Amino acid sequence: MEKTKLIPVLALVAIVVVAGCTGKGNEQGRLYGPLHWHVQLELETCGVAQGLPSFDPNRQEFYGTPHLHHHNDNKIHLEVPPGESILNSDATLGGFFRAINMPFSSETFMNYKNGDKCSNGAAGMVHFFVNGVENSEFGAHPIIDGERAKIVFG
Ligand SMILES: [Zn+2]
Repeated sequence: MEKTKLIPVLALVAIVVVAGCTGKGNEQGRLYGPLHWHVQLELETCGVAQGLPSFDPNRQEFYGTPHLHHHNDNKIHLEVPPGESILNSDATLGGFFRAINMPFSSETFMNYKNGDKCSNGAAGMVHFFVNGVENSEFGAHPIIDGERAKIVFG
């Protein structure tokens, strides 16, 4: 093949390969609407039940973002309308707590970090449970409709 013909062929191959990769990556890396999923939350620090930050329902429809929020019901709402999508990495417990600006990781929860002492003097740490079973994914755990998640510092 002549050099002048080879270059356009190689360029075409490169475009196809790049387009194929990004297309596949997007499909694997996103969840597409319509989705309306809920996760029941139970939160506790040093033996005391905690709620999500509340809001005035006369002034706003939800607390968080259109895709990730709560309605003063201690539930994560993942709501993605038809034609919209959310990154898999945001469709997680961590994504929800980022959306409501509440610290949550294996190291920190609300205003506590591992090693902080509760009023009884004992040092606590963050524990995470899904449907009653301790789970080590913390913020990386995906939002799955119907699950119950519990976060405990203590
Ligand atoms: Zn909802």
